Amino acid sequence: MKKSMDMLKECPKVELHCHLDGSVSPDVLKQIAGVENIELPSDELLIKQMQAPENCSSLAYYLHCFEFVLPFLQTEHALELAAYDLIRQASEDHIIYIEVRFAPMLHTQKNLTLDQVIQAVSKGLQRGKKDFLVESNMILCMMRGSSDEENKKIIDYAISYRDHGVVGIDLAGNEAEFPPILYKELFAYAVENQISFTIHAGECGSAQHVFDSISLGATRIGHGVGMKNDIEVMNYAKKHHILVEMCPTSNIQTKAVGAFSEFPFIEFVNYGIAVSINTDNRTVSGTTLTEEYHMIDSEFELTLPYLKQFNLQAISASFAYPEQKERLKKIIESFKVY
Ligand SMILES: [Zn+2]
Repeated sequence: MKKSMDMLKECPKVELHCHLDGSVSPDVLKQIAGVENIELPSDELLIKQMQAPENCSSLAYYLHCFEFVLPFLQTEHALELAAYDLIRQASEDHIIYIEVRFAPMLHTQKNLTLDQVIQAVSKGLQRGKKDFLVESNMILCMMRGSSDEENKKIIDYAISYRDHGVVGIDLAGNEAEFPPILYKELFAYAVENQISFTIHAGECGSAQHVFDSISLGATRIGHGVGMKNDIEVMNYAKKHHILVEMCPTSNIQTKAVGAFSEFPFIEFVNYGIAVSINTDNRTVSGTTLTEEYHMIDSEFELTLPYLKQFNLQAISASFAYPEQKERLKKIIESFKVY
């Protein structure tokens, strides 16, 4: 039986793949613009700037949408506000735990230090936790196209803040131009320092990128749809207990899949690969986590016990602290709707 939006909304959820800069709500952008005296276009035009069209020509085009928002996220106040508001949005989806990712280097255009960037986001997340009871941690993104020196700094900051809410790193940006293997040494450095990581891979149709990311030591893969139909790589992912962070709407927008019917959710599940459902970017993709669940449920019909197992699996694969994982698992276990 297909489930109502209300029922899907009620289920406690875990989200592992959500970008801060892609999830700034128009209201928060207006607040930031007000403080900084920046004139904004009409509401209608604003949404057009902030949201990717249903059919982008490519991932590169989708990434273009971030350029509009980024200049607004260059102060501690703006970053704190955006992080706080993301937790508010997460609470509306009944998310109990979210890993918020962002690339600290992108927020230094007005001379904030990396410490200031990370601490401002952390402050917003903590304030959000107090008001909305949603737990969260941070994932720092290295950027494709940045220098190795800059990206290494991100790993060093992840090491420094490992006991202060930074639980892992990621590699984001234009995958087609910058395959994961280029970052071999950096990931070896992360492994050496026991920093957990996920890599955006297989978003541009390449199974090889997924394979390489796993061989570099990633325990989770962002998107991963490129390994669809590649038995060898799917086997490799399964053998390594990889969780694939799936983002349906985003994958349709970026043409990672031709149509939703081709989205390999059931294929991965039937193959025994762990998956989780995510928004990727709430504003750029114009979605909520409940809507993503609804999309999956409409096409593949999720049973309630499966939804429960599925979120428990996300907690296991999360980068949360051990005691936090135990607490979160109990919340999911005890929820009545399941
Ligand atoms: Zn992403």
